[in-house]
Amino acid sequence: MAAPIVNTPTAGNMRIEQVNSTPREKRVAAHSHIKGLGLRDDGSAEPIMAGFVGQENAREASGVVVELIKSKKMAGRALLFTGAPGTGKTAIALAISQELGPKVPFRPIVGSEVYSSEIKKTEVLMENFRRAIGLRIKETKEVYEGEVTELTPEETENPLGGYGKTISHVIIGLKTVKGTKQLKLDPSIYESIQKEKVTVGDVIYVEANTGAVKRVGRSDAYATEFDLEAEEYVPLPKGDVHKKKEVIQDVTLHDLDTANAKPQGGQDIMSMMGQLLKPKKTEITDKLRQEINKVVNKYIDQGIAELVPGVLFIDEVHMLDIECFTYLNRALESPLAPVVIFATNRGMCTIRGTEDVLSPHGIPVDLLDRLLIIRTLPYTIDEIKVIVKIRARTESLAVDEDAIDVIAQSGVDSSVRYALQLLTPASILAGINDHTSITKEDVNEATELFFDSKRSAKIITEHESQFIV
Ligand code: ATP
Repeated sequence: MAAPIVNTPTAGNMRIEQVNSTPREKRVAAHSHIKGLGLRDDGSAEPIMAGFVGQENAREASGVVVELIKSKKMAGRALLFTGAPGTGKTAIALAISQELGPKVPFRPIVGSEVYSSEIKKTEVLMENFRRAIGLRIKETKEVYEGEVTELTPEETENPLGGYGKTISHVIIGLKTVKGTKQLKLDPSIYESIQKEKVTVGDVIYVEANTGAVKRVGRSDAYATEFDLEAEEYVPLPKGDVHKKKEVIQDVTLHDLDTANAKPQGGQDIMSMMGQLLKPKKTEITDKLRQEINKVVNKYIDQGIAELVPGVLFIDEVHMLDIECFTYLNRALESPLAPVVIFATNRGMCTIRGTEDVLSPHGIPVDLLDRLLIIRTLPYTIDEIKVIVKIRARTESLAVDEDAIDVIAQSGVDSSVRYALQLLTPASILAGINDHTSITKEDVNEATELFFDSKRSAKIITEHESQFIV
């Protein structure tokens, strides 16, 4: 790939645009109203705060855990949440990652995800460990930054003859308060310009050695009474057109593993990043991971990169087997381990993979020994009402007061999750029924259409003969 034709001393053939971080799971979207643990300065839980309602003891205990993690006293240990379905275990685990800082990775998985016919169980666990460890890379880049005063793709006749023209280079005029510069850039930049939808009047920066264009916003010189609302206006950059800028990229160790599964080019961090743009399905070996760890450690020592241990949340931990538990015991000791949070709603049960070893929550006692255990309790109807209201606000849904009562009651009878899940079908039914807000009738209709697990189980027992066994 060609570099832009600018007078840059470091022009190489690498092109770094944007690193795509691991896509967020749907499971996280269900918790978008959760913004943290909602604790006061003294560590006590505010009954309703940061999207959280009730569950004060579990939140306060989690606050203590956040402190332990921050003061590096959690190494080799992990956390276990025990409680009925829908009592907020995942939500609290997510809040812990939020309390640890901005952009701290949160990776939720379910115990049964480790079972696959193609990938080893321990491999799945290792991959998820590495998805939960972030790396913040600070780079000082040479950039051209300013307001676009001119944007002209210059065309020449198609060199192969025939019809049409090709872009031979792109002229960009950039203005700041200190001056204007005209850049003549490689045609490959045009793709980046189109992707960012750059037009005259936009404030952009162009990375000198990669030619990647980043649109910052509209120049405030273009702000008019009519369209002030529509765009974000930024003042002209204060410095000169050409300057050095600190750019921060957040990736996970797993992103680096996949990017380098088939190494091309150098082992420096820039090459690793460059390869993130071409995800491949090649096997990631232990040797490769060790190599990556070495490079990462080197960059951490040099102060270029900073490790951001995130949270790996393993729900339904009783689904793991003895082999996984043995592996976890060891993996928790690693200096590159994330904070691991387990959750279960099981009591005494057999450890999977053993004939008859009974243990609390189906977890071997030696691992159990390492765990701090926090209990989540069922909610009262009033707490569920508030949770439903918060969720309705997050989803921008208008709900009648008596409809909230019905939804909350279904939360008591079934689970908070079922209650919250009723909101979307109820809002669709409200639309069909021409209601401006969700009414009690819409909710009742939704509960008739969609069964909760208890009602479904009851029907199975009552009509056993109609089902295939
Ligand atoms: P399971 O054991 O089935 O995985 P869980 O205990 O992990 O359940 P969550 O998934 O955390 O339960 O909770 C279900 C839904 O209720 C989520 O959308 C969550 O954000 C919301 N929720 C649970 N507890 C609270 C709370 N105390 N305040 C606000 N929202 C909550």
